Amino acid sequence: MPELPEVETIRRELNSKIKNKTIINVEIKVAKMVNLPISEFVRKVRSKKIKHVYRRAKLIVVDLYGHNFLLFHLKMTGQLVYVPKIGKTISGGHSIKNLGHLPNKFSHIIFTFSDGSKLFFNDVRKFGWVRLVDDKLYLLVRNSFGLEPLKNDFTYERFKAQLMHYPNRKIKQVILDQALIAGLGNIYTDESCFCANIKPMRIVKTLKEEEIKKLHRCIPKVLEFAILKKGTSANNYVRTDGTVGGMVPFLKVYGRKGQKCKRQGCKGVIRKIQLNARGTHFCDVCQK
Ligand SMILES: [Zn+2]
Repeated sequence: MPELPEVETIRRELNSKIKNKTIINVEIKVAKMVNLPISEFVRKVRSKKIKHVYRRAKLIVVDLYGHNFLLFHLKMTGQLVYVPKIGKTISGGHSIKNLGHLPNKFSHIIFTFSDGSKLFFNDVRKFGWVRLVDDKLYLLVRNSFGLEPLKNDFTYERFKAQLMHYPNRKIKQVILDQALIAGLGNIYTDESCFCANIKPMRIVKTLKEEEIKKLHRCIPKVLEFAILKKGTSANNYVRTDGTVGGMVPFLKVYGRKGQKCKRQGCKGVIRKIQLNARGTHFCDVCQK
């Protein structure tokens, strides 16, 4: 599943492409991927103009003029492909091999814009979805997620207060909880714990003040660096211009089981264990 850096990368590229465009049609082939009866969804979305594309947690939020929002969740295998009338096709999300001509058999939702360009929502497993919500419902959705690590309100005090909701849980489990901290998944929780020299299975209440402070500094640092590298392709995620994410060579622990620790001076080897049914990577030597 794409995490904050991958979703943010797609969001930025989509915003530059579809902002200020008007949706003239939507084709929906899989009814369960939208939240309204198909005819109602189409009627309500048609003629709407796009104000801006935002992100909240791992959701892509398309703000439409007239107090409506389209929420996209790519889930495990969702992919967004933007095809302009003239110019380069861009795609983001899961990589589907041999994409070929679009629409293909995985193109379940297709938006057409007034300039003839199209946005395809392709999904092999059909777990992804698009929901049309009004501003009241959007506010509820917004508020169901925790702190955004890249926003100014991600202060040390707030971060610590979120952790202290579950003092007896493992730190990885807590920072994965979307209601506490938004946008982190399996890759960037492991990377953040490595950055902070903390083992992912440490119980929250055993963390020292200095360790929490370091983790608080590490989370945005790790995410910002990943955005700079346009995310990771570790789970076959590709950028909107079709190239794979550039973050993989820079991952310190995720996907590096059995390899030498990258921390300078550390002689450790990266271990992988299951933690709450999640593959979890860490260095036994430099992470305490
Ligand atoms: Zn190490």
